[in-house]
Amino acid sequence: MMYNNLDDLPPEHEEELSQLETQISELFTLLEKSDIQISLLQDENFQLKGQIQKLQQQSKPAQFKSSQAETIKVPKEIVATVTPSDTNIRQNKRKCPNCEASGFSIKEVDDKTRIITYVPRKIYMKKKVCTKCRFEF
Ligand SMILES: [Zn+2]
Repeated sequence: MMYNNLDDLPPEHEEELSQLETQISELFTLLEKSDIQISLLQDENFQLKGQIQKLQQQSKPAQFKSSQAETIKVPKEIVATVTPSDTNIRQNKRKCPNCEASGFSIKEVDDKTRIITYVPRKIYMKKKVCTKCRFEF
């Protein structure tokens, strides 16, 4: 059975009621504060979204970085493609395709423009140089 008239409440209940009322008003002020916080956060969120859009438009430098990363992989690709051609070179007799000089006329030197690997040390591709006509192959 509920009390229909608040005046009928016993004193301790009345005190409890006033406590509850202050709690309610406190909760309302909290609610207002959180409403303000929400609107502030929404503003911040809006600003951050704008910043993200700006950053996405400026993302060309980031793409440049990724292309740099791809060029770093290039030496490994050379290793993969080099291995068969290297065996081909070994199968070939030391003979200049330009002047057909052979034997001691052909020197094998490092091709400093073509690095196979940096690890554990720099290893260059080998190239043959004809000492008679300076033809490199
Ligand atoms: Zn030659």
